[in-house]
Amino acid sequence: MLKKFSYQTRQKHIAKLKSNPPDILIIGGGITGAGIARDAAMRGLKVALVEKSDFAAGTSSRSSKMIHGGLRYLTNFKMGLVYESCTEKALLQKIIPHLCQPLPYLYPVYSSDKYPLWMVNTGLWFYDLFSMFRNHSIHKKFTSRQVISLEPDLRQENLDGAVLYYDLLTNDARLTLENIKSANRHGAMVINYLEAVNMQKRGGQISAVELQDNLSGEQFQVECRIVVGAAGPWTDKLLRVADHSRQRLRITKGVHLVVPREKVNNHYTVVMKSPDDQRFTFVVPWDKFAYIGTTDTDYTGDLNNIYATPHDVEYLLKIFSYYFPDLSLGKDDIISTWAGARPLINGEDSSVSISNISREHQIFSAADNFILIAGGKLTTFRKMAAQIVNQTISKLHKYGYNPRTSPCRTAIIPIQDRGFNRINKKLRCSSLSSLFQMEKEVVEHLINQYGDEVIEVLELCKKSSRLKTRIVPELPYIWAEAKYSAAYELCLTLEDFMTRRTQLFLQDRHQGLVV
Ligand code: FAD
Repeated sequence: MLKKFSYQTRQKHIAKLKSNPPDILIIGGGITGAGIARDAAMRGLKVALVEKSDFAAGTSSRSSKMIHGGLRYLTNFKMGLVYESCTEKALLQKIIPHLCQPLPYLYPVYSSDKYPLWMVNTGLWFYDLFSMFRNHSIHKKFTSRQVISLEPDLRQENLDGAVLYYDLLTNDARLTLENIKSANRHGAMVINYLEAVNMQKRGGQISAVELQDNLSGEQFQVECRIVVGAAGPWTDKLLRVADHSRQRLRITKGVHLVVPREKVNNHYTVVMKSPDDQRFTFVVPWDKFAYIGTTDTDYTGDLNNIYATPHDVEYLLKIFSYYFPDLSLGKDDIISTWAGARPLINGEDSSVSISNISREHQIFSAADNFILIAGGKLTTFRKMAAQIVNQTISKLHKYGYNPRTSPCRTAIIPIQDRGFNRINKKLRCSSLSSLFQMEKEVVEHLINQYGDEVIEVLELCKKSSRLKTRIVPELPYIWAEAKYSAAYELCLTLEDFMTRRTQLFLQDRHQGLVV
C-alpha cells in the first residue's frame, strides 16, 4: 500500500514541524536537499526539508538530464572526479533503474579537432576502466564510412571516425521527486512552498529558523539542532539570511532547445564541439523530440526568472548546423526551451574561464550548527548527501545528543520499495497493456515515469475510463497521472504538474493546452 503524499500530508507535516523540532532542517528541495533528506531519514534521524517553491523547481529540473562519468573532465586530468562519477553512475542504475536509461553517445572526430581519434579512443579506454567495465557496453571505434551509416546527416567533410560510448539518461525532476517521496516514506517532514526567510542566532549557533508558507503567507519559527543549506544557486542569498556577506558562488546559465525528433533524425546522442569556443554540446534523442544543449555563460540576473535569450538560441543552432549542415534547423522548429543556473564554487581567481571552474561540490559552515553544500552534479548527489549526513551525525554527537542511527544504506536499498526490475520491462509492458487494456505506448511511458508505481496509476484507470484518456492527443500522458500526482506526489499547482511531475510543458508545442 503506497503512502499518501498530498496537500493533507503537507498540512500534517507543517503542524508536526511546529510542535516537534527536527534534528536536521534541510533548506532546499533540489536533488542535493532531497538526497540528504532520504539518507538522513533512512539512518533514523528526525528530518525536515523545506522548499520555497516546488521540489526540483530550481536547477534540478533544468539540467542536461544525464547521469554521466564526466568524460570531458579527463581532458583536465580530473581522474578522481571521473572515477567518483562513474562509480555513482553504476550505483544509481541499480537503485533507481527506471530513471536511468542507457544512452549511447556518438563522438565524431574531425581532422581539425584538437584531440585526434586515437587520443579520444584512448580516453574512452580510461573511461571504461574507471567504470570498471560496468557500462552498458564498452566503447567502440568506427571509421568515417561506418559513422555515416550510423548518422547519415552528420557532416562528412574531414571526418576521421567516431567513438561510441554509454552514459545514462534520466528525468532530473522525477529523480529529485523519487528521493523526496522515499524520504517521506522514511518519516521525513518534506514540505514544498515553505521558505526559510530568517534565522535567529544564539552564541554562534542558529537557534531557530523562521519559515514562511508561500501558499498561505503564514510565518512561524522552528527550532532545530542542525541546519543544512542545500539552496543551489540561492546559496549566497541564504548566507545573507544568516547574516553572512561572503559570496561563495559563480553562477553560469545553461540553455537547452527542444525540437521535433524528425527534424534532427538522430539515432544517438551526438557529441558536438562549438566551432567558435570548442565547448562540448550535445543533441540528445528524447522520445519524439531531441534537445540541444547546453550553453555556459556567466549569469547575474534574477534566479527566479531565468530564460533562453535569442543569443543563446543562435549559439546552439550554429553548432547544430555546423555538424548537420543539410538539416536547416531554424528558430521556427523550436518547441520549447529551458534554462538553468549552475551553482559553481567561486575560486579566488575570478579570471578563470568558465569551462575551467571546478564542478566539484564544497561543504562549508556559516555557524557552528549551520552546514552548507553547493556545487557538484546531479550524478554525485547520493555521495554528497552521505557526506553531509555523516557530518550532521558527528556534530550531534559533539553537542552530546546521541540519536540511534544506522549506517548509510542509500547505495544498496532501491529507491522504490518494491525494487523495479528493468530486465522485465518489455514483458511487463505487454502484459500490463493487455491486463489493463491500455495502449503499449502509454504503458511504456508510465513505466518509464513511475517505475514500480505504474500499478497504482493503472489501478486508477480501472476506476474511471476517463482517466485513461490522453491529455494531449500526440503524447502518452494521461489524466490518471494528474490524479496520482495530487494524491501521491505532493503536486499542488498546474505548473508543478506540467513542468516537473510530467514534461508536458516542454514537449507540447502549445504547452499542454489543447487547441
Ligand atoms: P537546486 O536544484 O537549484 O535546488 C535548490 C533549491 O533550494 C531550489 O529548489 C530553491 O527553490 C530552494 N531554495 C533556495 N532558497 C531557499 C530558501 N530560503 N528556503 C527554501 N528553499 C530554498 N549535472 C549532472 O550530473 N548531469 C547533467 O547532465 C547536468 N546538466 C546540467 C545542465 C545545466 C544547464 C545546469 C545548470 C546544471 C547541470 N548539472 C548536471 C548540474 C546539476 O543540475 C546541479 O548540480 C544540481 O541540479 C543542483 O542541485 P541543487 O539541489 O544543489 O540545486
